[in-house]
Amino acid sequence: MAEDEQFWADQIARDIITRKTFHYLDKPAPEIKEYVVKTSASISGVLHIGRLSDTIRGSSVFRALQDQGVKARLIWVAEDMDPLRKVPEGVPKNYSEYIGMPVTDIPDPKGCHDSYAKHHVDEYFKVLDEFVQVKMEKFSMREEYKQGNFNDHIKTILENVPAIKAIQNKYRTNPLPEGWSPWTPICKNCKKIVTARIKGIKDGKVEYVCQDYQFESSLAKGCGHHGEDDPTKSQGKLLWKSEWAAQWSRWKIVSEGAGKEYQVPNSAWWINAEIVENVLDWPMPKPIFYEHLIIEGVKMSASLGNVVYPKDWLEIASPELLRFLYSKRLMKTRSLSWKDLPQLYDEYDHAGRVAFEIEEEKNEKEKSHLSRLYKIANFEQMQEPLQMSFSYAAALTQLYEEKNGIMDALKKTGHYQPLLEDKILERIQKAKNWLDKYAPNEVKFKIQTTVSKDLNLSLQQKEALHEIAKKLKEKEWGEKELSQAIYDIAKEKGVSPKDLYKAGYQVLLGQERGPRLASFLLILGDKAVKLFEKV
Ligand SMILES: [Zn+2]
Ligand SMILES: [Zn+2]
Repeated sequence: MAEDEQFWADQIARDIITRKTFHYLDKPAPEIKEYVVKTSASISGVLHIGRLSDTIRGSSVFRALQDQGVKARLIWVAEDMDPLRKVPEGVPKNYSEYIGMPVTDIPDPKGCHDSYAKHHVDEYFKVLDEFVQVKMEKFSMREEYKQGNFNDHIKTILENVPAIKAIQNKYRTNPLPEGWSPWTPICKNCKKIVTARIKGIKDGKVEYVCQDYQFESSLAKGCGHHGEDDPTKSQGKLLWKSEWAAQWSRWKIVSEGAGKEYQVPNSAWWINAEIVENVLDWPMPKPIFYEHLIIEGVKMSASLGNVVYPKDWLEIASPELLRFLYSKRLMKTRSLSWKDLPQLYDEYDHAGRVAFEIEEEKNEKEKSHLSRLYKIANFEQMQEPLQMSFSYAAALTQLYEEKNGIMDALKKTGHYQPLLEDKILERIQKAKNWLDKYAPNEVKFKIQTTVSKDLNLSLQQKEALHEIAKKLKEKEWGEKELSQAIYDIAKEKGVSPKDLYKAGYQVLLGQERGPRLASFLLILGDKAVKLFEKV
């Protein structure tokens, strides 16, 4: 079975390449020389790792297109004409006066950039390219409008207001009013973009009066100004239910990601899809609908203080791991809990082992899916999976300060891979950061120096620990073999394996849980023997 039969991005790529007609119209699809995939982010909110989901998924489709032998291109667009909707946490309260202004036109509260938008985009760009395969071409909507790159689209859209209204009215209970316009000007007096209420269109010009605009939890104050705006002279923007279509047409987009809320039939996706086909003569792009990322069971939000920035992610995990997380099956909730990060690493390593046929996967479908997923997460160079799990790395960093100690321990337990030493060290460092910031207490430990008198171990438990110490001194053990030996000792002494592990952890760590006992004992060596002999 070909690997790419199972993977969602390959399926989308195939659909795009083999498309014969428009989606709504019985009209032949245009011949495409270069397949452009668009990804974007709104700059009015914070650029957390949730925003990368769109980009990473788009880049998977881009990669899949390339792998099917066509020329492809990935672009990133800053939706930076969006108005500021409320004053975010950490921004001075007096920024409320800017509510309703495009984020490109608001000063940088930190003072280091030309604007609020520039500040956020700059921070984001520092790491963005690490998460995608190619250096993306990046566009700013504010600049695009200023340069007149949308003028043709704006003209066509304004000439077709009745058709656009008809499309939207199909999904509305109250039809759009007389004089409605898909163009929204920036008020010439107060520079706000949501407050200009359209009064009518005359000779291609839009007349407006600036009035209060109510957002969900805040108010953009209007200034009362009466004005006239020429949309081709660049001071404003198209409404989203037209602008998206204009973007698809301008860049000839074949695919774009959108959150699952856009799947419903009356969403901006489908309205723009009808507009782009009927008015702008370009077939609807193939949507990549996806679930959003949930952290510890809740959506990321600045007010909840659970926002994870791309740079935070890189402290504890690699870009590959995030690509892996996002590229798993599309419509499954992405839920991430920091304490469970080692499990995500384990899944990733497992996919790697399946891809490299180090581990057998009997289910062919699963095998091809995991292999392709691993390949996509890795870009060009397929990284041989590490034998050192993340939890193991976390345990090692608590035992050794020095690189040498860690490498020796890995050699002893058979987890050392000379060619991957850099990757090993990288994972060790990330595990260390994870322990500092996110790890639950039960994985943190300190090796005991003496055996506490209050352990209350049974005679059988003590005998079993003595026996383990004896075995450890006998020879160099392998992990599996030792694990079996411990199990046998437990049986022989009449202790349940669980109780024996517990006793071991209590003696070694002063707590009831710890890293996998056999490998832990191999790393500790003499230290463990001495403690067990003393019980
Ligand atoms: Zn700045
Ligand atoms: Zn105004």
